[in-house]
Amino acid sequence: MDIVIADPPGPCMLSVGEKYGLPSSGGEVRLTIDGGKLGPWNIGGELTPEQTARDLIRYIENAGFRTELTVGVRGSTDAFAQADLLVRRADGTLAEIGQWPNEPLTTDSMQSIDIGMVRLDDGLESYGVNEINMGTLEERTLLRALSNKEPGTMEIFIVNRFEGSRKQGESFIASPAGTLGDAAILDWRALGRARTAYTFTHELGHLLLGDLSHPDSRGDRRTWLLMHSRASSAVGGPNRITEEQCSIMRARLEELGSI
Ligand SMILES: [Zn+2]
Repeated sequence: MDIVIADPPGPCMLSVGEKYGLPSSGGEVRLTIDGGKLGPWNIGGELTPEQTARDLIRYIENAGFRTELTVGVRGSTDAFAQADLLVRRADGTLAEIGQWPNEPLTTDSMQSIDIGMVRLDDGLESYGVNEINMGTLEERTLLRALSNKEPGTMEIFIVNRFEGSRKQGESFIASPAGTLGDAAILDWRALGRARTAYTFTHELGHLLLGDLSHPDSRGDRRTWLLMHSRASSAVGGPNRITEEQCSIMRARLEELGSI
């Protein structure tokens, strides 16, 4: 198992259409990369977030930087899928994106552009029910910036804590609805309580089952099952997996081993 200790990524990602994936109405984009002013760049009207991001890629790469585009999956309340653009220097290290003093990032009144960065002093912003596949902007910045992006690997990210301190772990699974690969995020309490709460094991269970749901959401009251959403409160409980889950996990591991 490879273990990497990394600083939280700074402001290194642009997210186009974070709010509702709206199309552009036309405007100008101004930003700084590593302190240098870039723009204003004209963005036309009626562009999807992906099309706007592709325009930005042209401008940013002309300025000598590298980009990595990931188009999300359209959520039920979105017009189009949002688009994330990671910006790196020519040597591959993460660039630092900022705003011009006293100028908005974009003058487009409809299509939002946000800068993604990770600030762990206030905890990692965790996803709500509508972001279960896409994650929050902060989570996506963390995963996109630090993931090794190798197919067939599962990545576990450890942070100090989640915002609000209620969550101890969450997972993302590679699926048509998700673009973050197989990854789990845990806070230090989840590791500290490893012998009683099994949070780490529970999140690995989500990844190996390829399923983010819990048996209790289907009316199953067996709190001693590992995948029960309240298994972590069954301190010292058996935390079992079923035979069916066991065979799904074994098959998944074999599949991963052959990639
Ligand atoms: Zn769970």
